[in-house]
Amino acid sequence: MTSSITIARIRGIDIGINWSWLAIVGLIGWSLAAAVFPDLTPGRSDLTYVLMAIVATLLFFTSLLLHELGHAIQAQREGMKIEGITLWIFGGVAKFSGMFPSAEAEFRVAVAGPVVTLAIGLLTLGIYEIPGLPEAVAGVVQWLSIINFALLIFNMLPAFPMDGGRVLRALIWRRNRDFPRSTEIAGAVGRAFGQVFIFGGIFLFLATGAFGGAWLALIGWFVINAGQAEVKVARMRTAFAGRTAADLMVAAPQSVSPELTIEQFLEQVLPVHRYRAYPVVRDGHAVGLLSSRAALTLPRRAWPATTVEQTMVPLDKALVFAPEKDLGEAAMELIQTEPGRGLVVGPSGIAGLISITDVVRALELPSAVAVG
Ligand SMILES: [Zn+2]
Repeated sequence: MTSSITIARIRGIDIGINWSWLAIVGLIGWSLAAAVFPDLTPGRSDLTYVLMAIVATLLFFTSLLLHELGHAIQAQREGMKIEGITLWIFGGVAKFSGMFPSAEAEFRVAVAGPVVTLAIGLLTLGIYEIPGLPEAVAGVVQWLSIINFALLIFNMLPAFPMDGGRVLRALIWRRNRDFPRSTEIAGAVGRAFGQVFIFGGIFLFLATGAFGGAWLALIGWFVINAGQAEVKVARMRTAFAGRTAADLMVAAPQSVSPELTIEQFLEQVLPVHRYRAYPVVRDGHAVGLLSSRAALTLPRRAWPATTVEQTMVPLDKALVFAPEKDLGEAAMELIQTEPGRGLVVGPSGIAGLISITDVVRALELPSAVAVG
């Protein structure tokens, strides 16, 4: 997810906020102050409603964050690596890298979030029941309780990749022990739900003018896209099962020296091979990766005075794989990072170069992967 800023770090997990989150915070806060709280507890001052709305919005996003932390901490317990949690327009997402170790593990990770939401719903309901609570406080906890229970029910619909859909995949996977097949099935069910959300949402919006309708349609669109992306990943894992980065890399690639100027590179090296990227090597050791595009986009007057070293992506920022790296995992990282290429480095130095183009080509021609 792009344009996110990190606001906190909890148990080594980065908590980020996406710009789109601000829009939804404003919208929820405004609808709470202008409509929800005046309905729920009539006869208060405007200032009271605004304060209630601010507190309720903050607590609502805290509960979303706790839900995601539930997923993330359970995933850590299962030995998975967490990339972080981001709050954005549709609430929160916890991003893991790598594969669920088992169907049981995915089940536990999927239900951990809803369990937190259930606990928050029960807790706020319990507080609401305390006699003699100031009405403004009662209004806030009542709304929090309602919204958490509503989210819990919606979230548990088997609309993969929503939590209920992940539970569904885990259950199918547990039965058939076939991860890609389970993902296809859960993905198809999720897509059907996504279509119902879209059409139902559009209908609601047109029939009643309710903003919630447009919202539901957007969520449906998101469910379909995110679900299909996961199905593609599962297919890729099947296609690349048992293969390594070394199987798909271009071996012994043409390398360049870090001291070379961009002018020399563009006039003497690039016209000969026309590769998209060149490993940068000093004394037999890889120090970085130069993208031909990065060199070409430099202004012409900078060519003579700029070196390859100043233009390359240094090794610690580049994607580097061991030759025996699982090809499915390498492909995932290539897809997720911007330049879409990485170096394959073995014990005796650079072994090859691997790019997203090779991955796509291999997926179109599965037999090509078998060679090598
Ligand atoms: Zn969740």
